[in-house]
Amino acid sequence: MFAIEVAGMSGAGVKRSNEVLKVSYDQLNSVMRNIGRSGARILRVTPIDGTQPVATPTTPPTPAPVTTPAASKPATAHAQVPVNLYKPKNPFVGTVTENYSLLQDGAIGRVNHITFNLEGGDPQLHYVEGQSIGIIPDGEDAKGKPHKLRLYSIASTRHGDDMADNTVSLCVRQLEYKNEAGEQIYGTCSTFLCDIEPGAKVKITGPVGKEMLLPEDEEANVIMLATGTGIAPMRTYLRRMFEAKEREANGWKFRGKAWLFMGAPKTANLLYDEDFLRYESEYPDNFRYTKAISREQQNPKGGRMYIQDRVTEYADEIFAMIEDPKTHVYMCGLRGMEPGIDEAMTAAAAAKGLDWAELRPQLKKAERWHVETY
Ligand code: NAP
Repeated sequence: MFAIEVAGMSGAGVKRSNEVLKVSYDQLNSVMRNIGRSGARILRVTPIDGTQPVATPTTPPTPAPVTTPAASKPATAHAQVPVNLYKPKNPFVGTVTENYSLLQDGAIGRVNHITFNLEGGDPQLHYVEGQSIGIIPDGEDAKGKPHKLRLYSIASTRHGDDMADNTVSLCVRQLEYKNEAGEQIYGTCSTFLCDIEPGAKVKITGPVGKEMLLPEDEEANVIMLATGTGIAPMRTYLRRMFEAKEREANGWKFRGKAWLFMGAPKTANLLYDEDFLRYESEYPDNFRYTKAISREQQNPKGGRMYIQDRVTEYADEIFAMIEDPKTHVYMCGLRGMEPGIDEAMTAAAAAKGLDWAELRPQLKKAERWHVETY
């Protein structure tokens, strides 16, 4: 079922105030067409409990073109992006320079910010914002073979946190879960990294990835959707956009609109929160920061507040931004957020008589819809 909120419906010659019509998916197309013909205005279409994301029928009146692929191209010129400078057979050996917790008292689990010095390589290991690197943990697996590499999204800009152009930082959560026998299991590589001491040597591969590159346009709009450690690439974008030293070093002065949606279980689990609050106060016209704190806030249905609930809340504004060919959307973190985000966008598109199932591939093709979820 869908709820259609309508303004300007008239009956018996009298204009009525806003009304909400509840219709099934099968009726949605014809009801919306009739509303359009009557001259009334559709304010919003929202899925009601249990409704799965669907391809919403297209409806006149004349939908605006949402994408202009040619105008939106591309992120950082792909050809200049370094890839696989170091491979697993011959990794670069970096040195840990710092390893500290990103969490506040009372947080759940362990999440650390870990920095490696990259000096001395030939070639020098370098990267751009939005890429990942591989880490090969010390030791052997249960079969006595060396561990395989694990990929982590890079959390520092190409200049590194100290702007010396020779470090890389990661934001790592220690994986922990109970197996079927009820034993507590800790992730091999994430534990290796969270426990590592400054001075230790670590095998690093990469960089890899061209999915999450930032647009070069200083006037681009960037919508970021992150859960947990999925914040890593977003931190790099926001530093590049709003840190004074970065703006100076890059000569790239972001003037567009950036909007970060961040999902965390508790306030104490928010990552890099102070930096983002500072950017918000320094650049109120350019940066907006919206949090979904799942175990402290409730969604309108009384459940945990997830990032897709925030996207539903602001779907119309987000959709209006997406209609601008300068807008890019980045999603990183838990795969579970994707269906809810699609559902919210389906409803927002339907309110404009557009079909999200058709639009999303167009955005993807135009390199404006960037997803890296696990
Ligand atoms: P976390 O802190 O455990 O959780 C982040 C938030 O997401 C919590 O508020 C959690 O809520 C919420 N959440 C749980 N299920 C959700 C769902 N279906 N939809 C939306 N939100 C949901 O996160 P984390 O352990 O750091 O995990 C982040 C994930 O991102 C990991 O799977 C990691 O592998 C992945 N990741 C991917 C990349 C990448 O693709 N490049 C990079 C970094 C991380 P509750 O726990 O309260 O239910």
